[in-house]
Amino acid sequence: MENTPVTERAAILRRAAQLMTDRRAELSAWMVLEVGKPVREADGEVSEAIDFCNYYAGEMERLEAGIAYDIAGETNRYIYQPRGIAVVIAPWNFPLAIAVGMTVAALVAGNCTLLKPAETSSVIAAKFTEILIEAGIPKGVFQYVPGIGGDVGAYLVKHKDTHLIAFTGSQAVGCRIYAEAAVLQPGQKHLKRVIAEMGGKNAIIIDESADLDQAVQGVVQSAFGYSGQKCSACSRAIVLDSIYATFLERLVEATQSLNVGAAELPSTKVGPVIDATAQAKMQEYIAIGKTEAQVALEMPSPSPGYFVAPVIFSEVSPQARIAQEEIFGPVLAVIRVQNFTEALEVANSTDFALTGGLYSRTPSHIEQATANFEVGNLYINRNITGAIVSRQPFGGFKLSGVGSKAGSPDYLLQFLEPRVITENIQRQGFAPIEGAE
Ligand code: NAD
Repeated sequence: MENTPVTERAAILRRAAQLMTDRRAELSAWMVLEVGKPVREADGEVSEAIDFCNYYAGEMERLEAGIAYDIAGETNRYIYQPRGIAVVIAPWNFPLAIAVGMTVAALVAGNCTLLKPAETSSVIAAKFTEILIEAGIPKGVFQYVPGIGGDVGAYLVKHKDTHLIAFTGSQAVGCRIYAEAAVLQPGQKHLKRVIAEMGGKNAIIIDESADLDQAVQGVVQSAFGYSGQKCSACSRAIVLDSIYATFLERLVEATQSLNVGAAELPSTKVGPVIDATAQAKMQEYIAIGKTEAQVALEMPSPSPGYFVAPVIFSEVSPQARIAQEEIFGPVLAVIRVQNFTEALEVANSTDFALTGGLYSRTPSHIEQATANFEVGNLYINRNITGAIVSRQPFGGFKLSGVGSKAGSPDYLLQFLEPRVITENIQRQGFAPIEGAE
């Protein structure tokens, strides 16, 4: 890919974007069928994948120009070159957009790239592979490598020829990859770069001045969209004491109106969860929650199928397991606090720092949250999921991730190696004639 000019690399990405536009319905249908994503959300995800292609194409064209720090008699050129071989390890929950985003970023930066999709979303990644081939990706620079994470993924991470790993997935696997990539393998002549986007335990604070119509709708959408299987999903609602009872009552009522069922039905808001293992893990957390807090709502789950209907726990202690650990399902902990300072303390009391939200009409609270709410993406008076490429560059810190935000002007830099070429152009003596030797 290094030998393909940037204009051509960018053109391939834009052609891929056009092909995805042409095949929008088919790609959405694959996501509905393969990972049980409700139709409307699957359609939105195709848009995100298209946006990544167009955005990174433009970004690479911008970066290719480099920077000239010339002075009289000397040119100083700051330029970027590809890092080498990139391994992309993707999750199943945004099976198209995240896999596409990481892959096209690596490719447009000129790296040979291997894509290892999640086991449960290999078909949609295969469809993307077809699209890249049709868009004209040169032979040999991209490989689709489906397989078991612990075998194929781990092998690629440890391989001496891997220069860069772009990973999105759980904290446990991300931390492991970070450690494994740090070990120098025999014959390896470089240090590996790891970009890891990991989980969250995202909170929305609702203060006494919040518009409750807006807050209830925002929390329901953020907590239960795609059955809470989003890294950005709201899993904690932190509510001021004075409005706690009213908010909870309205939250429960609004949640009861959600349709739980097959993902392909247009009326479905909460589809099935990804597989039996995930379903069992969520059920385990629901059982733990029953020992730690009060059940405000437990909706009946349809059967058969891997369904887990929304569950809301109230009077949850900020230190309870259901308030600290990522459940990655439609389980919401509602926490009572006495004042806004306590709300922020509770919000910041987990190991994660991905997304967060605030519903408030108090300017000083908005200011305080802007300064002190430890999250990569803070949303004020709106839902906290559905980041848009280049409008809300996305990613977290603490144990939610390491690296620059996806869809940001910093993102491609991680896939590039900067170099500086300095040339003395004040020639001494005669200029040799080219080709004279
Ligand atoms: P996961 O960590 O189980 O798997 C992610 C990928 O890693 C898969 O392709 C898997 O096969 C692979 N893998 C597993 N073990 C591996 C190993 N030992 N070595 C190399 N690769 C290995 O995560 P998941 O269940 O697919 O996704 C859900 C998780 O992803 C949640 O924690 C969620 O919060 C997180 N996520 C984060 C973001 C973000 O942008 N921060 C976005 C989406 C999902």
